[in-house]
Amino acid sequence: MSTGKTRPPIGNEKLISKLRDKGITSEMVLDAFRKVPRHLFVDGAMYAQAYDDNALPIGEGQTISQPSVVALMTELLELGKDDKILEIGTGSGFQTAVLAQFSRRVYTIERHRLLGEAARKRLRDMGYMNVVFKVGDGTRGWIQHAPFDRIIVTAGAPVTPESLANQLATGGLMIIPAGERKNQQLFVYRKTEQGLISQSAGNVVFVPLIGEHGWKD
Ligand code: SAM
Repeated sequence: MSTGKTRPPIGNEKLISKLRDKGITSEMVLDAFRKVPRHLFVDGAMYAQAYDDNALPIGEGQTISQPSVVALMTELLELGKDDKILEIGTGSGFQTAVLAQFSRRVYTIERHRLLGEAARKRLRDMGYMNVVFKVGDGTRGWIQHAPFDRIIVTAGAPVTPESLANQLATGGLMIIPAGERKNQQLFVYRKTEQGLISQSAGNVVFVPLIGEHGWKD
C-alpha cells in the first residue's frame, strides 16, 4: 500500500543501485525506497549525505539507520499487504515510511518524545495515514493491538524480549538485533504452532534498546 504523496528525489537511483550491489533483490523493497525521499528525514545540513549508505545522526544521540540495513530488514520481513506491523524504535520515521508502503497498518513506538513527535508530524505531512504512533517503552510491546503479523526492532537488545515474542501472531516473523551493547546479531524469528524458530542474518551495529526488557539507561 502506498500512501505517501512525495516524488522520488534526485540521488535516490544511486542509492537503489548501491542496495542492489549489497544484495537486495526484492523489487518491492527497492520500489519502496524510491518512494521515500531520505533527505526529508535528516537535518538540512546533511542533505548531501542522505543518499549515501550510512547511518546519520538525528538528535538525542540516535541515528537514522544505514539504508542497506533498513532494506535488508524489510526484505527479511517478507511483508504482505494485509500485515499488521509493530515497529520498536521509530527514530526519524524512515523505516516506518518504508514499511507503510507495503502494509495495512504500522504501529510504531519511540522512547524519545521529541523524535517520536517529529516523526509523527513528518509522516502526516507526507500523507501517510496508515501509521499509528506512540511515545513509550517499546520493549513492552503494544498489547492493545497484539497480535502482530510482523515485529521489527530497530535498536539492539541484550536478549530478545519475551514480551515481544508473546505479541507475535502464529505464522508471524520478528526481526531484532540482539547481543552486546555495541555489536549484535540480527535474528529472524518465525512463530510456529510448535514455538519460535530463529536464524541469524549476520552482524549489525545498532544503538541500544533501552527499557524494562532491554538495556538499562
Ligand atoms: N529506524 C529508525 C529510522 O529509520 O530513523 C532508526 C532507529 S534508531 C537506530 C533506534 C531508535 O530506537 C532510537 O530512536 C531510540 O530512541 C529508539 N529506542 C531505543 N529503545 C527504545 C524503546 N525501549 N522503545 C522505543 N524506542 C526505543
